[in-house]
Amino acid sequence: MDAYARMKELVDKLNKYATLYYDEDAPVVSDAEYDALYDELRALEEKEGYSLGNSPTHRVGGAPQKKFEQTKHLLRLYSLDKCRTEEEIADWYAKIVKEVGREPALTAEYKFDGLTLSLLYDKGELVQAATRGDGITGEVVTAQVKTIKKLPRSISYKGKIEIQGEGIMRLSALERYNATADEPLKNARNGAAGAIRNLDPSVTARRGLSFMAYNVGYSDRHFATQAEVHEFLKAEGFETESDFTIARNADEAFAFAEHTDEIRPTLDFLIDGVVFKVNEMALRDDIGYTDKFPKWAIAYKFKADEMTTVLKDVVWQVSRSAKLNPLAVLEPVDIGGVTVQRATLNNYGDILKKKVRIGDRVFIRRSNDVIPEITGVAEQVEGAKDVEKPVVCPACGSPIREVGAFLYCTGEHCAPQIVSALDHFASKDAMDIDGFSEKTAEQFYNELGVRTPVDLMSLTADKIVDLDRFGDKKADNLIKAIQKAKDTTADRLLFALGVGGIGKKTAKDLIKRFGTIENLMKADKDELTAVDGIGDVLADNIIAYFADETNVELLNGLYACGVTVREEEKKEGVFSGMRLVLTGSLPTYKRGEATRLIEENGGEVASSVSKTVDLVVAGDDAGSKLDKATKLGIRIIDEEEFKRMLGL
Ligand code: NAD
Repeated sequence: MDAYARMKELVDKLNKYATLYYDEDAPVVSDAEYDALYDELRALEEKEGYSLGNSPTHRVGGAPQKKFEQTKHLLRLYSLDKCRTEEEIADWYAKIVKEVGREPALTAEYKFDGLTLSLLYDKGELVQAATRGDGITGEVVTAQVKTIKKLPRSISYKGKIEIQGEGIMRLSALERYNATADEPLKNARNGAAGAIRNLDPSVTARRGLSFMAYNVGYSDRHFATQAEVHEFLKAEGFETESDFTIARNADEAFAFAEHTDEIRPTLDFLIDGVVFKVNEMALRDDIGYTDKFPKWAIAYKFKADEMTTVLKDVVWQVSRSAKLNPLAVLEPVDIGGVTVQRATLNNYGDILKKKVRIGDRVFIRRSNDVIPEITGVAEQVEGAKDVEKPVVCPACGSPIREVGAFLYCTGEHCAPQIVSALDHFASKDAMDIDGFSEKTAEQFYNELGVRTPVDLMSLTADKIVDLDRFGDKKADNLIKAIQKAKDTTADRLLFALGVGGIGKKTAKDLIKRFGTIENLMKADKDELTAVDGIGDVLADNIIAYFADETNVELLNGLYACGVTVREEEKKEGVFSGMRLVLTGSLPTYKRGEATRLIEENGGEVASSVSKTVDLVVAGDDAGSKLDKATKLGIRIIDEEEFKRMLGL
């Protein structure tokens, strides 16, 4: 294909995608896929030395839609130039240094992923809210924007001023919305954009949006720096970024980008990168603009966490709690450097809600440490087939029981259930049987008839020595590991039993409160729900579990074959006897590390703030927990103080 034909093809494709994205808030490809085509077009235009009249490389956003009243922005809004590597940041900065003759400071900010908004305040009142549109003319969305609860309706500054920022949907708001929505939203970005560009403000209100202010457009007031703008916005009561930083050079800018990428999973909103801007306003005119973006700012984009691919099949896996989990088989796709071939679809109800069919192109989101998830359909493909609801368990053929959105196997001897229960029992955080894997569980199930944890804990070397993959040494090691694991703690044993809903932390909390599993067995519902994080459903689960004779027999059988529970030594330290709550993201410690430090120093970590909490460690973006702690007069400390208390 010659260059002109390819250019035309790219322009047509990108324009079609942009219409779906900007005008209908219903993209059919991920941003990363759009960006790859856009970059190819830009490179081709540069190489050929010309571009087509309707190329998206010369345009900001989408055309304002007729269904909205339109308004001219007092000052034009731009897009942002993009980069993806440390070198590209350095190159961009070097050009600026050359232009201004010194190393100017940069502001380093989050790049919020939502919908650009420009709010006009006059005489201290919010008079109009508009989308960016094509940068010159926007769509009037005042009624929609006024549904944002935390948005100041009036400000103390009385002059005419345009406040720019991003309309976003917090991830917690998205989760709340999707929990009850007939049609779940694919992601928070479309959730926010679609809600604001909806003619019915009551639809917007239901999404629970937020506005993050980051800029001032037209203003009667002079600002000397971006940092001053940030302080002004904060002082006027706008929600602003809490991690706003000054970078003195390209190295510091890149360090901010790396740090932000790391803490990104802890944030309650989507960001797709960071933005660097020359801090001093006086320098900006010298540096200038292209017809699309300012040259004094740049967006550093993170690796993609969303892509589209084809759903090839759905297979059903039986979990140890008998639940049938749908697993999506995908056409392999690279997401931020990782090849993804499988994704979760959560449950049958979720498949129906998302209207996912085999053969369709679907959106896949992958965040750190979490199984990739299908978030919705990107493109319905002709000939795609509905996902069939299993009528019998795919593993054992027993009938299926349907409870709400979930399907359960009713078989009592379903192999995958038993195998994964054995695997869970032996896992690191449970009985910690070294060298025992799901594969071993499967082999013991098939070849030795091991069905229960008691069968497993009663094994002897002579039984396993002749199995495939075993020999004297391996058999001996495994038996030693089983013997070692018999000496355990009550919370590990409780977690190992696999009571529905009792995870590692809950098992710890329950043992902390009741001391032993035997005391826990005697606890009534009120006593159970008084424990942090235990609600009605979980309390009922625990009571039902121990009311079942088979489970009590299992526990006694374990004791009979030598399982003994030792008391865990009490840790002493600066937090002895104290209950602490962690909230927001701490600058250096991850949640797990901070928890370990607290526990090793005698403290207990609670998940919610109540009167029984002694101390709250608050990081950035600490929300309602911090408010509650302030109200209750609980002592609040930051990471610095936390470290100081620990002598670190
Ligand atoms: P952009 O959205 O990548 O960057 C510019 C915008 O960043 C600004 O308008 C502003 O709203 C926002 N922003 C967030 N935080 C900011 C901050 N702290 N300071 C300043 N601005 C901040 O660029 P764009 O031109 O508006 O949109 C292009 C992008 O949209 C593409 O990169 C692509 O990923 C996406 N897109 C996707 C599709 C699709 O089909 N998936 C189609 C078209 C465009």
